[in-house]
Amino acid sequence: MKFNTKAIHGGQENIDPGYNAVMPPIYQTSTFKQHSPGSHKGYEYARSANPTRNALEKNIASIENGKYGLAFGSGLAAIDAVLKLLKPGDEVIATNDLYGGSYRLFTRIYEDLGIKFQFVAMDDPVSIEKHISTATRIIWVETPTNPMMNIIDIKAVAQVTKKHNLLLAVDNTFATAYLQQPLDRGADIVMHSATKYLGGHSDVIMGSLVVNDKSLADKLYFIQNASGAIPGPQDCFLVLRGIKTLHVRMQRHCENGRAVAEFLKGNSKVKNVYYPGFEDHPNYDIATSQMSDYGGMVSFSTVDGTKESAIKILESLRVFTLAESLGGVESLAGHPATMTHASIPKTEREKIGIVDSLIRLSVGIEDIHDLLQDLEQAIR
Ligand SMILES: *Cc1c(COP(=O)(O)O)cnc(C)c1O
Repeated sequence: MKFNTKAIHGGQENIDPGYNAVMPPIYQTSTFKQHSPGSHKGYEYARSANPTRNALEKNIASIENGKYGLAFGSGLAAIDAVLKLLKPGDEVIATNDLYGGSYRLFTRIYEDLGIKFQFVAMDDPVSIEKHISTATRIIWVETPTNPMMNIIDIKAVAQVTKKHNLLLAVDNTFATAYLQQPLDRGADIVMHSATKYLGGHSDVIMGSLVVNDKSLADKLYFIQNASGAIPGPQDCFLVLRGIKTLHVRMQRHCENGRAVAEFLKGNSKVKNVYYPGFEDHPNYDIATSQMSDYGGMVSFSTVDGTKESAIKILESLRVFTLAESLGGVESLAGHPATMTHASIPKTEREKIGIVDSLIRLSVGIEDIHDLLQDLEQAIR
């Protein structure tokens, strides 16, 4: 099956043996009747497994070209499950330009539990090798990065992780399986904040993992069940419904994203525009070989460089909504320095380019003329 068909049908064979419903029923139940102790229809207790959740987990695995999918109560709960594979003394090497919540989880929770993290630029994957020690276990990659839109070569990092026998985990939230499939490029774990493009309608918080290796899947399933950070069946239904239009939404996100990036590039009050689809983007070649298009996320800074100029623009937008998050049908705008990335110290932030005048846009699927007009008037 091709991607667009998998988004709709992937993993959905025989999802309702009872009545052949086309969409899986929302099994709003905590437990399942047993005929005799241990004798049941495959479901016992809904933390361990729920048919609505399983329908979603199979669908997410299918679009990522993976064998095993696991859904969690949030993207951070999915990352948390991966970190629980580790023991005190183990080390993780992560992208330096990382989602702020991931950075907070790593440095404020897991460092205290004895896990060590190094945050490194991964433009040159070979340079990652000098950070590897005998204690390194996981390389954590986010690409495109948030909010600077750097692109990391997944295949090249996978060569490093394979050579050193490490796990490669890729946060695929920004690109989604529509634009890139990390497992096909050698990653061991794909992670999503399904809250964003997979759900796609800004109405649910959820996370997921997809893996191919059976023993890794078993360990993660054990953690999912033992720690219990699972999503409810209503939310699983919503995300499954969202994924069925992922390909058509992403196509429009990409079209509108390009138009917005080009508009900003030509505006005299805009300084830098960060969008991987520009030929002069430093990682343009990797983006082009690794992704099928460039996505709907665009960041930019203002010429005058002040926080006030960014705030003025954000307060003046009328179609774009000033809000955290991304990936929904509606366009959102945010101020990374005070919003998504406020948990990263200012000096660290500015080192990677998150200056006070930086604005991040999640370009939605509204009419492009309205979006451009809105940006035009707000910047003016
Ligand atoms: C939002 C986000 C997360 C965290 O996901 P939640 O669903 O909010 O817990 C992780 N990574 C990236 C890239 C994100 O955008």
